[in-house]
Amino acid sequence: MHRTSAYAAATPKALLAPHAIERRAPGPRDVLIDIAYCGVCHSDIHQARDEWGGGGIFPMVPGHEIVGHVAEVGVEVAGFAVGDAVGVGCFVDSCRRCAQCTAGEEQFCEQDMTATYNGMERDGVTPTHGGYSTRITVDQDYVLRIPAGMPLDRAAPLLCAGITTYSPMKHYGVHSGDRVAVVGLGGLGHMAVKIARAMGAEVTVLSTSEGKRDDALALGAHAFAATGDKGTFKRLAKTFDKIIDTVSAAHDYNAYLSLLKTDGTMILLGVPDAPVPLAAGALIMQRRKLGGSLIGGIRETQEMLDFCAEHDIASDIELIDIAQINEAYERMIRGDVRYRFVIDLATLDQAA
Ligand code: NAP
Ligand code: ZN
Ligand code: ZN
Repeated sequence: MHRTSAYAAATPKALLAPHAIERRAPGPRDVLIDIAYCGVCHSDIHQARDEWGGGGIFPMVPGHEIVGHVAEVGVEVAGFAVGDAVGVGCFVDSCRRCAQCTAGEEQFCEQDMTATYNGMERDGVTPTHGGYSTRITVDQDYVLRIPAGMPLDRAAPLLCAGITTYSPMKHYGVHSGDRVAVVGLGGLGHMAVKIARAMGAEVTVLSTSEGKRDDALALGAHAFAATGDKGTFKRLAKTFDKIIDTVSAAHDYNAYLSLLKTDGTMILLGVPDAPVPLAAGALIMQRRKLGGSLIGGIRETQEMLDFCAEHDIASDIELIDIAQINEAYERMIRGDVRYRFVIDLATLDQAA
């Protein structure tokens, strides 16, 4: 066992604070990773505060946008060597046998994926802990390779925000020339803009923050519209082929559905803590579709990393010390993030 420094929420109401955890010594198929950086996803906040209906496992060490270097490998590990730049995303295991796992869609494992944190290992009794920590032991089949030349700190958010936006664009089909709206310009939203643009779409950002207009255009969007302005919904009615909704709080889906063309699709990625009423007419009138998507499988995550390297895409980040994590959460809730906080784990050794 390796005693490891971490930051944890002791209870759903507690601020995150220093906490020690144990990491298993690498088994034959395991990779031990020294964590360099970990992105801060809004899902970390939802779970650390137990906003998704209770059942959170505490103390909780959040973090599922993990990058670092291989420190040790088990005897059967092929394909990873000490010193390699690697990543770990939102899950660290799955049953490996069901139809979803064999199709490479481990996130939909019929026996549930093992979440990187706030989950249980396959033994059903050992809680998992995430990347707000200095190292992690992961089975080689759930470790990603960071492409050469990609800056590690800016790569971290790709492990969740990147794959969560890439996967639905492939699945639902974002094509060159499509008109795509991205709702919410935060961590997921800014990755959606970059990836949709690289896929050849004509991208519009729909945001509650007028102050993000210039950034939206600099990130690659062709247009920006403020959703606080009621005229926006009239002006853009029946405009988009696809809408990628990344908003973390409850909002009126019906209003956004009205912006889809005939046969257009709105894809929900944000997970608000409250249900939202849906008017049948919003779908029926133009034969619109409403779908959702959950992260992506290991194979597709590697494909996304390679796609980002090829298109020179990485996250726009604000690097923080671990001691700033509680303040970062407050800023994210206010929409004040440009566009992903990433923790420099070199600051944790001293803190814990
Ligand atoms: P984030 O960085 O905090 O961005 C969310 C953005 O939503 C904000 O920046 C803001 O953008 C907008 N927003 C916030 N409150 C709003 C409100 N009341 N009304 C309208 N817009 C609002 O969060 P994130 O990390 O991108 O995550 C976004 C959501 O996706 C979270 O719910 C998270 O749990 C979920 N998520 C889902 C998956 C999945 O697999 N489906 C994966 C990761 C995360 P503007 O300032 O531009 O309005
Ligand atoms: Zn996430
Ligand atoms: Zn499975």
